[in-house]
Amino acid sequence: MSAGSFSDSGSARLALDLIKVIQDNTVYLSEVDGAIGDGDHGINMRKGFDRFGVLAVDRGVKDASEAFTLLGTTLLTEIGGSMGPLYGSFFKALGRKARGKDIDAAVLLDMLKAGMETVMDIGEAQPGDKTMLDALAPAIGALAAAIAAGSDFPAALAAMAAAAEAGAAATTAMIARIGRAARLGERSRGTRDAGATSCALILGQMARTASELVQR
Ligand code: ADP
Ligand code: MG
Repeated sequence: MSAGSFSDSGSARLALDLIKVIQDNTVYLSEVDGAIGDGDHGINMRKGFDRFGVLAVDRGVKDASEAFTLLGTTLLTEIGGSMGPLYGSFFKALGRKARGKDIDAAVLLDMLKAGMETVMDIGEAQPGDKTMLDALAPAIGALAAAIAAGSDFPAALAAMAAAAEAGAAATTAMIARIGRAARLGERSRGTRDAGATSCALILGQMARTASELVQR
């Protein structure tokens, strides 16, 4: 295993650590969704991630692939709203791409690209439509750019997390073109998108966890 990757023991944390970040931000995410949506995004996510926490202990997930796969299937079956199928398929794709791999920057990039592809296939949104893709796409772009520039894994992770947050913040200026908020047209401008906000929180936590794992 190279210094820029990590394997097996502890890698399930990449998914498990997301539970706390969703628990800590449940109210915030529902508040963000309440401005131009129906105010349930935090609750929807919380329900799915809490259930994942129970099942993960129950089944004893042993690595990132198993954990993301379980998270994906749990969200697919437990979450209502738009996000169940979207985040569910996203995390399942991450699990599929992580299978049998030591996770380094290139593998993580592969995982996230596969995740974004499935979200776009299912949801038919494009970056710029004011959705989770507006955090995810720039994060993937920044990770790819950092790899191309020869950055080490922790630096690439930091760039990814910063781009996700900047992308989520930039949704404030966007008009929603898809999902519930699209009905508001021009009035959907002026607040952040809830899904982009949760996506930036998720990618930010994944970056912190991966940095810790790689520096152990
Ligand atoms: P609902 O819209 O059913 O209330 P949530 O509140 O849980 O579901 O999630 C809302 C978020 O879902 C939005 O903020 C947006 O980021 C995301 N979203 C909605 N539709 C799509 C789509 N087609 N593709 C990607 N993301 C979407
Ligand atoms: Mg909602």
